[in-house]
Amino acid sequence: MSSITIINPATDEEVATYDRITQEEAKNKIALANRTFGSWKVTSFEERSKLMHKLADYLEEHKEEYAQLATREMGKIIGQSRKEIEKCILICRYYADNAKDLLADNSVDTEAKKSYVTFQPIGVVLAVMPWNFPFYQVIRFAVPALMAGNVGVLKHASNVQGCAFALEDAFLKAGFPKGCFTNLNLSSEHVKDVIADKNIVAVTLTGSDPAGRSVASIAGQNLKKTVLELGGSDAYIILEDADLEKAVELATFGRLQNNGQTCIAAKRFIVLEAIYEEFLVAFKKKMKDAKMGAPTAEDTYYGPMARKDLRNELHEQVQKTIAQGGRLVLGGEIPQGKGAYYPATILADLKPGMEGFDEELFGPVASVIKAKNDEEAIILANNSQFGLGSGVFTSNLERGEQIALQLEAGSSFVNKLVVSDPRLPFGGVKNSGYGRELSGYGIKEFVNTKSVWIA
Ligand code: NAP
Repeated sequence: MSSITIINPATDEEVATYDRITQEEAKNKIALANRTFGSWKVTSFEERSKLMHKLADYLEEHKEEYAQLATREMGKIIGQSRKEIEKCILICRYYADNAKDLLADNSVDTEAKKSYVTFQPIGVVLAVMPWNFPFYQVIRFAVPALMAGNVGVLKHASNVQGCAFALEDAFLKAGFPKGCFTNLNLSSEHVKDVIADKNIVAVTLTGSDPAGRSVASIAGQNLKKTVLELGGSDAYIILEDADLEKAVELATFGRLQNNGQTCIAAKRFIVLEAIYEEFLVAFKKKMKDAKMGAPTAEDTYYGPMARKDLRNELHEQVQKTIAQGGRLVLGGEIPQGKGAYYPATILADLKPGMEGFDEELFGPVASVIKAKNDEEAIILANNSQFGLGSGVFTSNLERGEQIALQLEAGSSFVNKLVVSDPRLPFGGVKNSGYGRELSGYGIKEFVNTKSVWIA
C-alpha cells in the first residue's frame, strides 16, 4: 500500500504519514456515498440547515486546532489560518440560512395551469482541491453542494491530507450521515477512475491550468459536468490619482498574503507612467519591511511557500524573467537554511512575452508594468491568458468603474483587493476556468434545473 508523508515547509520536519486508499476502497466509499444520497436528497432544508449550523459550531470549537494543522502542513501564517477557519464558518452559516430561498421554485407564467422551475439534487459530486486554502476551498464546494441535497467526495491535494481527514471528521461529528462527505486519499493519477465511476455525476476542480485541462477532458469523455476554478495573474491598475499609500499597502498585502499563494491575489501591477517610479520606491520599501519568518510566530508577515519544489519553480520563473529583460528591484534569491522560504521579490519593467507577465507567479513575487494611459493599461491588463480577478486604484470612482467594466475577469474591484464573499459569485473567464462558486449562482451549478408543466 502506498502512503504520503507530509513535510512541514517551515522546518523540513515530517508532520505525518497517511496511507493511500486502494482503487477498490475508493469504489466502495463512492458506492456508500451514493447510497447515502438516496436518503440525504429527501431531507428538508430545515434538517440540513440544523446540521450545517452544527458544523459551524464544531469548526468554531476546533478553530485553533485546525488553524495549527493548516499552518503545519502548508505553512500559512497562523493568524491567516485562523481567519480561514472563520471564513469557513461564515459560509456554513450563510448557506444554512439562505439555501432554501436560493433554491426556491421559480414560478413562470405560461398557458399551463401551473408551470415552474425547480432545482433538484443530482448525486455524488467529486471535488479535486488544492492545498493553498486547505479548509476553505473544500468548504466553498461542500457546503452549498450538501445544502442542495447532493453528497460530496474529496480528492484533496496530497500535502494537506491531515486537513482533508479533519474535514471529514468535522462533518461526521456535526451529525451528517456517513457518506455525505468522504475523503478519498488517492494520488492524482487515480482521479480518472473516480471520474469514470458510474456513481459520480459531476466534478469540480480548484487548481492549476494543467490539472483543470486533464480533469475536464476526462469528465468530457464521461459526459460529466465540470466547474473549474483555475489559476490567475490578476492585474491591478494604479492610476495617477490613486491614494498611493493605500495602493502600496494593499499591493504588499495582496502579494504576500498566504505567502504569495492566493489565486485571486494581485499579481501584475500596471502603473501609470506619471507615478511609476514613485510607486516602485514606496512598494519596494513596504515589501522590504514585511517580516518573513516562522508561520507560527504572531508577528510574521509572510512565511514559507507550501513546498520546496514549488519554491524552486518560482525561482526559475524569476530568473527567466530577468534573463528576458525584467528589472529585479527586490529579492530574487533563495535564502540559506531550512524551509521553503522565498523573499518578497519585485520585478519591474515587464512586458508581454516575459515569463513574469505571461504566466502565473504563485509566490511572493510582484510583476510591475508601466502604462502610458488608461487605454494602454486596459490593453495590458487584458493581455493575459487568465481572467480571474482584477482591480483599479483611483480617487475617481466613476473612472474606476468604467475601467473595471472593461477588464476581462470574473471579478473587478475598485480600491479594494478582490476577495471572495458568499453573497457574490466567484469564478473566472479564459484560462482561469468556468462556472461559479458561492451565492445563488454557485449553489445552482450542481442541481437539475427542472421545468415542471401541469396542463
Ligand atoms: P494543482 O497542482 O493543480 O493541484 C490541485 C489538485 O489537483 C490537487 O488535489 C492535485 O493533487 C490535483 N491534481 C494535480 N494534477 C492532476 C491531474 N493531472 N489530474 C487530476 N488531479 C490532479 O494545483 P495546486 O498547486 O494545488 O494549487 C495552485 C493552483 O491552484 C494555482 O494555479 C492557483 O491559482 C490555483 N487556485 C485557483 C483557485 C480559484 O478559485 N480559481 C483557488 C486556489 C488555487 P496532488 O496534490 O495529489 O497532485
